[in-house]
Amino acid sequence: MAVRRAPAVTERDLWAQYPFLPGAEALIADYSPSLRELLDAPAFGGARELGRIRVRAAADDPSGTAALGELDRADPDLRFLSFMYARLLVSVAATSAPGRRWSVAEARRAAERLDRVAERLPEEFVGVTRLLEFPAEESGTGYRFTLPDYLRLAAGLREPEFRLVRQRLARGQVEVAPAQAARLVQEGIRTRLAGSLPAEIGAEVRNRLEANEVDFLRDLAQRVPLPTQRRGVLVLRAEYFPPCIRKMRRMLEGGENLAHSGRFALAAFLHRVGADFDTIVDAYRGAPDFDENISRYQIEHITQRDGGRGYEPPTCETLRSQGFCFRDGDPSAPRPEDRARDERCFEPSLVRPTQYYRLKGGTAVERPAAEAAAGAPTPPATRPRSDGPG
Ligand code: SF4
Repeated sequence: MAVRRAPAVTERDLWAQYPFLPGAEALIADYSPSLRELLDAPAFGGARELGRIRVRAAADDPSGTAALGELDRADPDLRFLSFMYARLLVSVAATSAPGRRWSVAEARRAAERLDRVAERLPEEFVGVTRLLEFPAEESGTGYRFTLPDYLRLAAGLREPEFRLVRQRLARGQVEVAPAQAARLVQEGIRTRLAGSLPAEIGAEVRNRLEANEVDFLRDLAQRVPLPTQRRGVLVLRAEYFPPCIRKMRRMLEGGENLAHSGRFALAAFLHRVGADFDTIVDAYRGAPDFDENISRYQIEHITQRDGGRGYEPPTCETLRSQGFCFRDGDPSAPRPEDRARDERCFEPSLVRPTQYYRLKGGTAVERPAAEAAAGAPTPPATRPRSDGPG
């Protein structure tokens, strides 16, 4: 790896660039206001506004690729404090979707810098990975990760270049090129941020924040909407979605990869329960390989079949064999209702997720099994990803 040394950043710059690193809060404690000051003091109005900008941008652009000029121009303290405020905001949002989008966007933002320093400033790259507890080592041409760390970091990546069979493996370590190393670290940051939400906030702070930000939180709920029904459908009830579908949506909103079979099942289900076309496309926006044109084409294919009735969603048995059935609960889910076993899923008559939706009181378009289409079409949103800034 040809290393052109870049000027080292100061410690304060470093924490502003990577505000999620363990110890960041303690290290800038001298500059930090109390939580109450951050919430209310006029002196920190700029940090609050920049925090709102971070959250709003993530809600509008879950791929996290949009530039944030205000953030780039802000001084290190303001950047750090705005990150802290943004984390508070997504923690009191009405649903977990804004937090998942924010995690994707913040990880992506950090990766833009990591992609550069992986080539030019290996000390910084290695230092960040150490603090994140998946330490990378310089190898001369790239970086090495221990096999367990590699497997953990690459678990959510669908790009073929991250398959283990394609890696150079020696003495229990996996060696990757700098760009791949940056992508792995980005994924590690995303899962770390998503896993830290919602932040633990006392009732007093929560009430104050919700009161101060009532307009912002209302606007945020509209920017990350619940599914909307298409014309002619009486009402679409997202709260009636079964555990498998809720899990698929959480994965995509959180920037995780969803296997092709899951993508197909989700699109087919959403169409059958009456989601409008744009809502179905929107469900895939958080996917790391999201491509608007490809998604639209493929969703159109799934939903327009059979005069617009669309493909039949897979049976529960099929979803179970593919690892998508979460009737026993999802231990990693942030909401208690998603972690709990769902008795409705154990009803003997239940064959498909759309039946679950109807059992709960929703209206889904079903058709006789004999008419069900053979074979699943290509699922939405599959573009080979080459991450990092150009
Ligand atoms: S039983 Fe069926 S509806 Fe319930 S989570 Fe499993 S696959 Fe989904």
